Amino acid sequence: MKNFTYQRAENAESAIGLIGQNTNSKFLGGGTNLVDLMRENIEQPDALVDVSMLSKDITETESGSLLIGAAAKNTAVANNEIVREKFPVLAQAILFGASGQIRNMATVGGNLLQRTRCYYFYDETAKCNKRQKNSGCDAVGGFNRIHAILGASESCIATHPSDMCVALAALDAKIHVEGASGKREIAFNDFHNLPEDTPHIETELKDGELITAIEIPRNDFAVNSIYRKVRDRASYAFALVSVAAILETENDSIKNVRIALGGVAHKPWRAVAAENFLNGKSASEENFRAAAQIELKDAKGFGHNDFKIELAKRTIVSVLKELTENDLN
Ligand code: SF4
Repeated sequence: MKNFTYQRAENAESAIGLIGQNTNSKFLGGGTNLVDLMRENIEQPDALVDVSMLSKDITETESGSLLIGAAAKNTAVANNEIVREKFPVLAQAILFGASGQIRNMATVGGNLLQRTRCYYFYDETAKCNKRQKNSGCDAVGGFNRIHAILGASESCIATHPSDMCVALAALDAKIHVEGASGKREIAFNDFHNLPEDTPHIETELKDGELITAIEIPRNDFAVNSIYRKVRDRASYAFALVSVAAILETENDSIKNVRIALGGVAHKPWRAVAAENFLNGKSASEENFRAAAQIELKDAKGFGHNDFKIELAKRTIVSVLKELTENDLN
């Protein structure tokens, strides 16, 4: 591991000042992904600015939004009473991720910025456009079982590894960021990028910008929500396919539906086409299947991951059926 300097910021303002002092510096949250990458020499910052002293508060605002400080630990969010009652999909998604020890260390802000688990990204001998610009992508013709089926490019077919982010995409969260030029909010679904020909640019964050909080807008129907994760083993594995969904029906018609997919794209994939198809229709298995077909119509496998296309459709249908039954009870 390369030598680096370490400084602890006391608040957002000091963090932004410290990060601006070195062009090759990184914010450090819980370190559960960044430190691993530094050990493997995939990340080689000269300086780390520890932002674990930032707000960890989880509070309801006057408008009814839930504001989660960026330094809140994943465990604290999953155990929060308001999250469990009003946004169960978020608590479930977090508890399906990693291990208890990692969730105790990992921060919400850091979770948004974790890097892909593509095997070739971690192998310094492999070609990887994300790690080294214009070097190629060994995953395209290689072993790509965990790779993307939606929104991929010739440059990169990696997936985003987070479970929590899939739930936040379905919840229409907003990300509060702060930088040298001030504060701004980014809609969750605009935050992560598709790879196109710049897979190394993974988010909309500008240089030196810091995530300070995640806001979940008030939502009275997310009480009926589910996160379903399909993976190779029952714990400590990344999603092959996951579905975060929220459903509200009225007189057997769908009044509100939100669906996001994980493990299928370079970002949490909001299933807008499926949602548009379902709104106002009857909550039937036939319609759920049709919506899944519409969402996955442009899906493309790369050999080892072809199975994910049908798996994603079946998981969408299964989750929506379960939510329909829950909504009727
Ligand atoms: Fe690198 Fe992306 Fe190709 Fe994986 S899929 S080797 S991360 S460029």
